[in-house]
Order: sequence, then C-alpha cells, then structure tokens
Amino acid sequence: MSSRPTSKFYQSVVFRLTLWYAAIFIVISIIAFVAFYMSLEKNLNKRSRTFLQDKVEEFSKLVMAGKAGMLNDEFRRETQSIGVNNVYYSFLDAGGRTLISSNSLHWANLKPNKDLIRMAVRDKKPMFEVVKLPHFRHKVRIIYDSVGSGKILLIAMGLKYEENLLYGMQIIFTRVMLLILCLSILGSWWILTRAMSRVSTVTNTAMSISSKTLDRRVPVSSRADEIDRLAEAFNNMLARIRTLINALKDVTDNIAHDLKTPITRIRLIAESRVSNGEENTNIAPSEYQELSGAIIEECDKLIGMINSSLELRALEYDRGIVNRNLSRINLSEMLHQACDIFQPVAEDNEITITLDVDSEVECFIRADKDLLQRAFANIIDNAIKYTASGGMVRVVLKRKGDSFVVEISDNGAGISQESLPHIFEKFYRGDLSRSACGSGLGLALTKSIIEAHRGSVSVESQEGKGTKFTVVLSA
Ligand code: ADP
Repeated sequence: MSSRPTSKFYQSVVFRLTLWYAAIFIVISIIAFVAFYMSLEKNLNKRSRTFLQDKVEEFSKLVMAGKAGMLNDEFRRETQSIGVNNVYYSFLDAGGRTLISSNSLHWANLKPNKDLIRMAVRDKKPMFEVVKLPHFRHKVRIIYDSVGSGKILLIAMGLKYEENLLYGMQIIFTRVMLLILCLSILGSWWILTRAMSRVSTVTNTAMSISSKTLDRRVPVSSRADEIDRLAEAFNNMLARIRTLINALKDVTDNIAHDLKTPITRIRLIAESRVSNGEENTNIAPSEYQELSGAIIEECDKLIGMINSSLELRALEYDRGIVNRNLSRINLSEMLHQACDIFQPVAEDNEITITLDVDSEVECFIRADKDLLQRAFANIIDNAIKYTASGGMVRVVLKRKGDSFVVEISDNGAGISQESLPHIFEKFYRGDLSRSACGSGLGLALTKSIIEAHRGSVSVESQEGKGTKFTVVLSA
C-alpha cells in the first residue's frame, strides 16, 4: 500500500486558510481606512475653506463700510491671536500689489498668484490654492476674494493641524491594523486547528484500518455539523465495504465449492479407470466411451458455470448488449417452444407441464430472443428440478394493462422463508438443492436478463406446497 509523504506545514489547509483570512482582512481593513481617511480629509478641507471664507467676509464688511484703514490693526490683532507663523493677511489691489498686510517676515516668500486674482475679480467669487512654500513644514491654503472696487483680500493659512491629524490617523491605523492582524492570524489559526483536528481523527482512523479492523468507526459527536456528516459518511462506507467483503468471501467459498465437485468427479472417474487399467489391461472401447462421456458431462457443467458467470458480468456491467440484439418476438410462441423443450425431461420425471395463454391477446415485445429464452428456461428448469414425481408445472401468460405477465408455478418442494430473500443472489443454493445439479447462478442471471429488458421478476413460495415466479415485461 502506498501512502503519500506527510504534507509540509506550508501545504496544510490550516496554513493556507489562515493566509487567506489574513489577506481578506487586510484588504477589507485598507478599503475601510481609505474610505474613512478620504472622508476625514474632505471634512478638514471644507473646514479650513469655511474658516478662510468667514474671515474674508469679516474683513470685507470693514472695507465696504469705508473703514479699510482699520485693516492694519485688525490684521495684527488676528495674527497675534492665531499665531504669526500660522496665518497671513493681505489687502491687495487688482494688480496684486500689497496695500496692507500682516507683514510677517515669515511669509516673505509668498507671492500672490496673479491668475487667481484676475479670476476672483472677474468672476466675483473666492479662489483657493494650496501651495508649498520654502522653509514651511506644512502646506498652505490661500484664499483670494474681491472686495468692493477691484481690491483683493488674501488670507493664507498653514495646514499644520489638518496634516498632523491625517498623519496621526495613518500612524494609529498602521499600529491598530498590525495588532488586529496578529490577533486575527492567531484567532483563525486556533479555530482552524481545532476544526481540522477532527478531520485528522477521520484520517487517522482511515489510516489505521486494514481488512482485519473493518469494525473500527470514527467517533461522531452530537453537533451534527459537516465534520460529523463526513465521519458518518465514512462509517457508512466502511459498513458497505464490510458487507461487500463478506459477500465476496461467500462468492469465493461458493465458487470453490461448485468447482470442487465436478473436478473431484472427473478425478475420481479417471482414477478408477487408471486403477482398473492396472488390474485389467483389456479395457473394452465402450468403457473408454463411457469414461469420456462422463468427463465431457462434468466439463460441460464447468463450462456452463463459467459462461453463466461471464454473461452475468456482461449484463451487470454492460447493459448495452441487450440493445444490440433486440428484435420483435412473439412471447406466446417463445413459451410454447420452452415448454416443448422441457416436455421430455418432465415426462421422464412424471411431471405435467401445462401452458395457459390468453389466445385473444397479441403477445409481441421487443427483446433479445436468446437471453429471454434463457431466463424462462432457468425458471422452468428449476420448477421441474425441485418438483417431485407426479407433480405439475403451470405456465400462464396474460396481459395486464401495458404489460405482459408470465407466471410459472409448481407444486414442488417450495422455498424456506430464510432462503427466499437470497435465491436471486449469485451462487446462492438452497439447502435442499445442494444434492441437485446446478451452480446457483440461474436465477441471478434470470433477474439480470429481465431487468435488462426493463422488466421485473418476483417469487412467492411456501415450503412443501410449491413456488410461483412472476415475470412482468412491458408490452
Ligand atoms: P440452482 O442452480 O441451485 O438451481 P438457481 O439460481 O437457479 O440455482 O436457484 C437458486 C436456488 O433457489 C436453488 O438452489 C433453490 O434452492 C431455489 N429454487 C429456485 N427455484 C425453485 C423452485 N421452483 N422450487 C424450489 N426451490 C427453488
């Protein structure tokens, strides 16, 4: 028996499923984080734009009220409260020249964007830009909005808070994800190892089973889950294998028994002639003929048995053979011929054969003539074989709806209730029939032939009273 080498750790289902879980988890987490990050970024942008717009509105009120001169003080006050490095205010003319500004050296590199100034004046709506200034760690958001007669308010604000918040989110997400990833790998590893340990139990049981330990079974828990169903299926398979092995043993025993009898007889015949020959060298030719005849008879029995076995196998595994030889046959004529063939044997045994056919009925069916003849011959042969002298065998053919029913009954020995369920099995022979000639294959072959014609065969019997076989074939 060959067995595969134990699979490596990285080939195990547990390892692969854990990897899959971890990969799925990472993908889902990244998608969730990206969605959250984008929505946070959008809200922060909106917040800073709203702040800048509010400030512009506040200062534009002063300009509209003709108090532009107060802007200088206002700008200084605002920058002191928010932080000189965080915000910058400037009042410009339409050409971008600074009129008033919070005038911080820190913002000296900020050059107003003339295109945006032009667009703000033209469209009368605020224009935004985000720029990176030299010496600034964070980016800067700038608003340009026109106030009154072609003047522009410029406010620039460092995006330190927003960028720090988003960066902090990235750090937190990375750490939390690493932690949860480790936990999920450990968790799924633990769950899968537990689940798979029950599969290992099935595997170990399977590996420990040999033909001598077929009684072993895999333990089934009360959970009734997939693993329990697998264990149950495995146990059922073991039970079926056991039944098959027992049946195989029976068949082997029966074959051995049935081959032994004719071969022993051939040997005895030959042996008796050899010892007779030693004593008397003048053996008459008629005696040789008798000897050969007896040996031929035993050989015929053996060949018959082997042929029946082969035909049975062919019928069981290659049902197509029936379809190749189909022809339209007259069932009534076939039964007449069968009864005629058995008439001499029946007469020898003082048994009456009668055939009762409903003459009104047309009895044509499509069938394999040779096989069907064989099936009926087996039943009639048995009826004669197991009926004592003075008995009778009756064959009846009638039509029932779309089917033909053939009943073959006798008033012979009958079949015991213990034997009745087994008589269609291969090599089964009833106790009484061990003395009669036969192989135990006749009825198995008959059943296969009838079923290959999509028909059915059944039996009723009472020990000591007789037996009735009923064959039903579709018209
Ligand atoms: P066999 O070669 O022994 O006749 P079969 O397969 O034809 O084998 O039949 C199987 C068994 O069924 C027989 O051994 C016999 O015990 C029983 N049997 C079949 N037909 C009859 C019958 N008409 N009367 C009594 N027993 C029968």
